[in-house]
Amino acid sequence: MSASEQHGFQTEVTKLLNLLANSLYSNKEVFLRELISNASDAIDKLHFLSLTNPDLLKDDPNFKIRIRADKDNHTLTISDNGLGMTLEEANSHLGTIAKSGTEDFLKHMTGDAQKDSQLIGQFGVGFYSSFIVADKVTVLSLSANAKSADEGVIWESNGEGTFTSGNVPRDHRGTDIILHIKDSESEFLDSWRLREAITKYSDHISVPVELYEEQYEAPKEGESEPAAPKFAYVQVNDAKALWTRNAKEIKPEEYNEFYKHLTSDYQDPLTYAHNKVEGELEYTSLLYIPRQAPWDLFNRENKHGLKLFVQRVFIMDEAEQFLPNYLRFVKGLVDTNALPLNVSRELLQESKVTRKLKKALTKRVLNMLEKLAKTDDYKVFWSQFGTVLKEGPVEDYSNREAILKLLRFASTHDDSAEQHVSLEDYVSRMPEKQKNIYYLTADSYESALKSPYLEQLKQKGVEVLLMWDRVDEWLMGNVSEYAGKKFIAVTASDLELGDLQDEAEQKQQEEAKEQYKDVVARFKEALGDKVQDVRVSTRLIDSPSCVVAENGSRMTAQMRRLMEAAGQKLPDERYILELNPQHPLIVKANAESDGEKFKSWAELVYQQALLADQGMLKDPAAFVKVLDSLLLG
Ligand code: ADP
Repeated sequence: MSASEQHGFQTEVTKLLNLLANSLYSNKEVFLRELISNASDAIDKLHFLSLTNPDLLKDDPNFKIRIRADKDNHTLTISDNGLGMTLEEANSHLGTIAKSGTEDFLKHMTGDAQKDSQLIGQFGVGFYSSFIVADKVTVLSLSANAKSADEGVIWESNGEGTFTSGNVPRDHRGTDIILHIKDSESEFLDSWRLREAITKYSDHISVPVELYEEQYEAPKEGESEPAAPKFAYVQVNDAKALWTRNAKEIKPEEYNEFYKHLTSDYQDPLTYAHNKVEGELEYTSLLYIPRQAPWDLFNRENKHGLKLFVQRVFIMDEAEQFLPNYLRFVKGLVDTNALPLNVSRELLQESKVTRKLKKALTKRVLNMLEKLAKTDDYKVFWSQFGTVLKEGPVEDYSNREAILKLLRFASTHDDSAEQHVSLEDYVSRMPEKQKNIYYLTADSYESALKSPYLEQLKQKGVEVLLMWDRVDEWLMGNVSEYAGKKFIAVTASDLELGDLQDEAEQKQQEEAKEQYKDVVARFKEALGDKVQDVRVSTRLIDSPSCVVAENGSRMTAQMRRLMEAAGQKLPDERYILELNPQHPLIVKANAESDGEKFKSWAELVYQQALLADQGMLKDPAAFVKVLDSLLLG
């Protein structure tokens, strides 16, 4: 061995190791899944490279993974003849958690072992799971790209903060992961135990997985002594990629296990769909909806996309081109004969086939969600991915109606902040006289519920959808109707109530307009340019005033804040002030004969309305001053 060097793990890694060992205690055998997955990935990668460079395979063209327990030395070795690693690769891939997410992970750690172990899955610390059962791990490797056996690598660690690595001659490509099994974990040296676990984790893998096992032979005739035990490698899986098999013959557990192999998630998926399509565009897709959102779902660098296979050969990970952005939570793979084996990301981007596949796969996912929406699990889905799906109706015009059907909202129909009302529910409850769908966007459920804009609609028994997610404003600003029913914000100046208002009511309103003409004129004069107009309100019952904007023109407070935060200079919005002239506050204000004092009252009424609408004021100090002056008389 050449001089080996000692390196330190990142401190985060050490922390993770402890966490891993503790949190996965009850499910130790997962280390086998991780190591078999890594071996199979290394083989996939080499297979792909060998398409253009067959020399890489040298005299070892048959890919396989081998597992061998050695009871005498207390080791378990997982070997593959895949791509292998150079010294640099071993140092950087095994010695650090190369993922940019380490820090984020540590931030997300909750201290709750179960939750944290689920998180670990998302960070793919696969290789480190070795230390659950091993007190030392030795890795031997030779990269398929190596020029000579001298470029072989040895990497070693006891998982306690440091590792050593260096070059060592190795005459064949690929990697051996040698686990020095802890005394307490010797069950993993037993053939039956290994066979059981390996079968579970390798059934769906497309390369043969072979286990070194004792072969039992009946003693030969005439021989009294049993023959010395013979060992041989025996294939334990059928080495057929799961998605190439007939869906009818695949058990749910197999789909779930494959999902874990694919994603390194530790939980089962919520649902999956496996489809084989023949005809003009041939492809097989296997799509999964995870149970839990990744920590970086809203991070711009969030890696997503499907695994791409061409004619069963792995081509690339995270091919984002096959699904729209609003479905970025979908995991899985697509395997097609319609793309060339040498397809690159750039080519994918421009390919007609990609576009067709994207269209078809999008439909599949929407279909899958439609089915899921009929089950209780949809609640889980919605809580994890609802806000992402809300990007859909704007991003994907052609599927707008189908996506709108999948959205869920809170509503005034019941007293719950849970978003579980669909537009279909809403429309089915609409009284015949109601023509539009009413909604309110606010900063939170609580502030939506208390909004003065709901007063009249509540009294009329009109249901209002309540929204407070950041994306809602943008969504509602971009969709105008569902099933032929117009969306109307309850803050619109004209609620287009139509038949919901009877003649008597309209007459009463006309009269009120006439009756309170003078109050309105007084306010208008006192506020001058600050407001666009002052009107008698028809929507208020308990509140003295509110602000509205001409239909469609209103930029909501939340949107304004977002744009201002992004550095945009926006002109002051001029609202229409609506008054509830019978409200004691307006009556009191109007009783003030002193012109200057009345101005203060008008200002108070206006600022109050703004505050109730927007949750904050441009100049709170001025408001307080007005308020104080009135309180002190
Ligand atoms: P992940 O598999 O999620 O990337 P791991 O910690 O399991 O995370 O592995 C880290 C990296 O180490 C892999 O991405 C790969 O580059 C390398 N690696 C692990 N096992 C092997 C192997 N058997 N052959 C080649 N490279 C490997």
